[in-house]
Amino acid sequence: MHVEELDRNYLFHPMTNLAAHAENGPHMTIVEGHGATVTDRAGRDYLDAMAGLWCVNVGYAHPEMAEALREQALKLPYFHAFSSMGTDLPARLSERLINMAPVPMSKVFYGNSGSDANDTQAKLVWYYNNVLGRPMKKKIIARRRGYHGVTVLSGGLTGLKNLHDGFDLPLPMIRHIRPPHGLWEREPGQTDDEFATTLAIELDRFIVNEGPETVAALIAEPVMAAGGVIVPPDTYFPKIQEVLDKYDVLLIADEVVNGFGRLGVSFGSVSTNMKPDLMTVAKGITSAYVPLSAVLVSDKVWQVLLDGSAKYGSFGHGYTYSAHPLAAAAAMTNLDIIERDGLVDRVAENGKLLHELLHTAFADHPNVGEIRGRGLMAAVEFVESREPLRPFAQQGAFAGAVTRAALENGVITRALPAADTVSFSPPFVTTPDELERMVAGVRAGLDHAVGELRSK
Ligand code: PMP
Repeated sequence: MHVEELDRNYLFHPMTNLAAHAENGPHMTIVEGHGATVTDRAGRDYLDAMAGLWCVNVGYAHPEMAEALREQALKLPYFHAFSSMGTDLPARLSERLINMAPVPMSKVFYGNSGSDANDTQAKLVWYYNNVLGRPMKKKIIARRRGYHGVTVLSGGLTGLKNLHDGFDLPLPMIRHIRPPHGLWEREPGQTDDEFATTLAIELDRFIVNEGPETVAALIAEPVMAAGGVIVPPDTYFPKIQEVLDKYDVLLIADEVVNGFGRLGVSFGSVSTNMKPDLMTVAKGITSAYVPLSAVLVSDKVWQVLLDGSAKYGSFGHGYTYSAHPLAAAAAMTNLDIIERDGLVDRVAENGKLLHELLHTAFADHPNVGEIRGRGLMAAVEFVESREPLRPFAQQGAFAGAVTRAALENGVITRALPAADTVSFSPPFVTTPDELERMVAGVRAGLDHAVGELRSK
């Protein structure tokens, strides 16, 4: 049987229309990747403008990554970290992450995915409040359009309806507030700063309504990724943080996409003036060569967790693969490559080029509502009409058509579920010429989608 048939018959695909897949099988089978290019079975090359799912930052098939993994696999592929057992590389990686952290952090807890790391965050926040004798303080606030994962807890934190439907999510202790998405949420004529003030006042009222004694934490991506690449006003997080401090509510920064250089600076928290008590990282920590996530814990939280030993004994949370030596080897080499090759500066430089290219290609188009982003993270949002501003009736269909047409042009982009948006998050090693071809492929996709729309 062909692999495509095996796939259709046996592989249960994530985030996929199951009935359509059962009917049609896979779109394509990717068999190889180098740099910013992946190749399908037919031998056709595609520029991957999404670095997989915002994650293959050092590019595909980096020889040093392969070598580091081989070396560690031959030395010690695995040993666990339960009951105070240690291995070399996870300890070294922890020191490195603490030294890199954008705000003072104290300890690192490892997981395997962004989703399980955000579940860990919720458990830490609950444990923290239980140790402090505040058993009522358990609610976690997230934002609509935010993406924090798909597990039973983190799936509810994610503020996207299609990740809740059919799964009985979110769990009851989760609440959602408005995101700082200027295009749709800002009052006409409001400045960035006024918009930020409005959202902070809303949060204050929201917490008072819920009862501050019941609200434990707020989780936020510095720059939202899957919800539509939403960049907050510069004063948004400082104003939000003032409200959180007033009610003793912890701030969790979800840096799963932003962390390790995606925005042209080390972390999203730096880019957006966020001072989190807890941070989640994943994806770019290993450039996705091996699954790894981590939770960084500030001293304020850590001191309370320490007090928990007297109350609860051994800390009853951890995964078989927490502090996995092979994953730590991937992370160390990945961070070495990013540092040595100056890739964060390259992201800042190529990010400017990407935004110029996007503005030149898309700004005047009547179906483009907004072009936004920072560093090598960008999005173009489509609208049915600019004046008056009106979205397409069937949300997401138009961006889907653009994405399919771009794929035909040899460019992989991604239509985001929450809006008529296509996004860009190419590998850090993408060349200027490749960026030009990515933007041109998506722009030609837009023409094709408009043609399809007219012919209907
Ligand atoms: N947080 C953010 C910001 C993400 O973008 C994602 C994944 N797209 C996650 C968490 C969840 O990560 P994972 O898919 O590894 O569980």
